[in-house]
Parts: sequence; C-alpha cells; structure tokens
Amino acid sequence: MNNQSITKEILNWYDNNKRILPWRKHLTKKQKQYFTLVSEIMLQQTQVKTVIPYFNNFIKKIPNLKILAKTNDRKLLKCWEGLGYYSRARNLKKTAKKIIKEFNGNLPNKIEELKLLPGIGEYTSTAIMAIAFNKQFIPLDGNVERILKRIFYLKNVKEISKDNLYKKKFFFGKSNRPSDYAQAIMEIGALICKPLNPLCYECPLRKSCLAYKKKDFTLTSKNKFNKIKYFEADIYKSKNKYLLIKNNKFNFLRNLLIFPMREIDQKQFKSSLNKRINIKMSNMDMKIAINKKNRKKYLSNSFLLDKDDIKKHILPSFTKKIFKSIIRY
Ligand code: SF4
Repeated sequence: MNNQSITKEILNWYDNNKRILPWRKHLTKKQKQYFTLVSEIMLQQTQVKTVIPYFNNFIKKIPNLKILAKTNDRKLLKCWEGLGYYSRARNLKKTAKKIIKEFNGNLPNKIEELKLLPGIGEYTSTAIMAIAFNKQFIPLDGNVERILKRIFYLKNVKEISKDNLYKKKFFFGKSNRPSDYAQAIMEIGALICKPLNPLCYECPLRKSCLAYKKKDFTLTSKNKFNKIKYFEADIYKSKNKYLLIKNNKFNFLRNLLIFPMREIDQKQFKSSLNKRINIKMSNMDMKIAINKKNRKKYLSNSFLLDKDDIKKHILPSFTKKIFKSIIRY
C-alpha cells in the first residue's frame, strides 16, 4: 500500500468508528485550544476512559484558561485528585498564567513556543499542533508506538528506541485533514491494535503489517528495561492514625504526602523481614519494604491521617497503595 491509500483507509476507518469524546465536541476555536490542552495533559500517562470523568469535572469547575490561571492550588489539586502525576496539574496552571502574560491569552501555534510552556514536551506539543491547529504532525503516544512496533516488527532495544520510532513515522505520510488523521492513528492503536489480542480483521493497516504476516503480536516494552529501585517505608501509627510527610526529598511525587521512606540497596531489601510491596512507576519499578513502627515520631512537615482522612486529602495513588497494603495486615 502506498502512503496515499494508507491515509485514505485510516481516515475512512476513523469516520466510521471514532469515539465520541468530550474534547471532540464542536467547539469554538478558543474552546478547542483549551480542551485540547487540558485533555492532552491529562492523557499523559493515563488512559482515555480514566480521563473522561476527570476532564468533564475539570471543565465544569475550571472552564477556561483565564479561570485556570486564577484557580487556587487546593481547588486545582482537588479536581486532579486520583489522576496521579500531580505535577501535571501544577504545570497546567503555570502554562495558563504564561499564555495569558506572554501570548495574550492565546495558546501559541508554533511548536518551539509550545515546548517552552511548563509540562509540554515533545508528545504534547505535537498533539496540540495536530489536534488544535490542524498541522501535519503525528504525536508518538503509546498507541502509535505500538502500531509502529507491530507494522515494522520492531523487537530489540535499538529498534524500539524513540529515535527509531520517530523515523518510522514516515510510514503514515501526510493528510489533508491533519487533526483527524493524528487522532485516527491514535484511535486505531487504542481500539484495534490493542496490547493484547489486536483486532487485525478490522484494521485498515493489515496489508502493511509485518506482525500480522508473522502472526506474532508480542511487544517489547520499554518498561522491560526499567530500573528496579529499592526503598524502605516507615509506618508510624498512633491511635489509628498514620504519619505522612510532605515529600521534598525525591524527585517523583514532589510536594505530595508520602510515608517517610529512604532508598536502600538490594542486599538490605532482601535481608529485610518486613512485608514487601511492588509499585510500578512510569520510569522505575519500586520494591518497598514496609517497616511498621508503633511509636510516635514527630517530623517536620508531617501529618497524621486515619482511614477516613484518606478520602479528604489529596494523596497520590502511590501513597494510597501503601495505605491499602498496611490496612490489610
Ligand atoms: S494488523 Fe493487527 S497488529 Fe497490525 S497494526 Fe493492525 S491491529 Fe495492529
């Protein structure tokens, strides 16, 4: 298949199968920009079906860029609670302030300018250029990566590197409907070229797909090469309350409430007799020894929370997972 017929097949498929999503409504230009910005930041590391209710609630409470720039942090984080990666919410507000101050309230339509906004990197800037401004960009999200890995049958570390996947995007060519085209490719990844059991018989890319020809759909994941890190978390409990501290020690989950913890080495982790849990972060696999202590400890910047407080406070799902594991034992 040549590029032109691939483009045509992909758009045909999209016109007949696209999902109705709240950020795909008919919108004014300004709304389209704001909705794309919010949804794309939310969609970083998070699936569409998880994002939808958060997006609807966010837009209801914070309907435009001007209001976002003035929203207090507590309200902002409450709207984000449960979505994880809270730095995204803080960056979104910083971005809104910057757009109002430096771009007269209009989302910039140049990729170099978008990349200068807080929290907007390579993926999000290309997604905004394509979706909000209808420019010829194909964002490389997890869905598009999966399609490329299968079409070109990419297996080893070098083949699945970002650099190589960027090169392979030439496969998609150009379209006269860039906004729809970018969304169509991501949508095929999400609905058809699924991680397990891809629906190849419905796929417009079948004729060009090496994985389909070889009937081997296994994927090599970057996470396979994730670093394993070891930690010990101290659980101080007093009168059914647990001590948490505001994290200013680790780069992940900065300024959020976590159990006091420190990094340890593999030997220390293996010799620990405490309960152990595993938590996968986007860039590392965390193995955590849970060190349960009954004496009270006062630490600066610390909070005592019971089970019911968990709902009221803005806690990262990382901390909630540790909570769940200790409440069970
Ligand atoms: S043919 Fe199958 S494996 Fe290949 S891109 Fe389509 S859904 Fe994915």
